[in-house]
Amino acid sequence: MAKVKVESVERMTKEEAINAINNRFEIMDYREDKQLEDALDMAIEALEKQIPMKVRITTSTKRCGRCKRQLSAIGNIHPERNYCQRCGQAIDWSKKQ
Ligand SMILES: [Zn+2]
Repeated sequence: MAKVKVESVERMTKEEAINAINNRFEIMDYREDKQLEDALDMAIEALEKQIPMKVRITTSTKRCGRCKRQLSAIGNIHPERNYCQRCGQAIDWSKKQ
């Protein structure tokens, strides 16, 4: 059986891919193809979840920036928790804003 060569070179960044899809949204008429529009919406959401999002800080908790699930108490960080367990959003624990 032939080994599958894994392509590790990214052709574009996730942000560039999202922009490329959104640019098409602006110029194309998707009323004829609702299924394609829904599929592209899903693709954008999946790409966005791979881009680390800052934690949302409240007075006592740190929460997922997307779904607001509590990730930790305010004083803690959990760098091993790279993704939200509820929605799959990649988490950025860094303090810089
Ligand atoms: Zn989440």
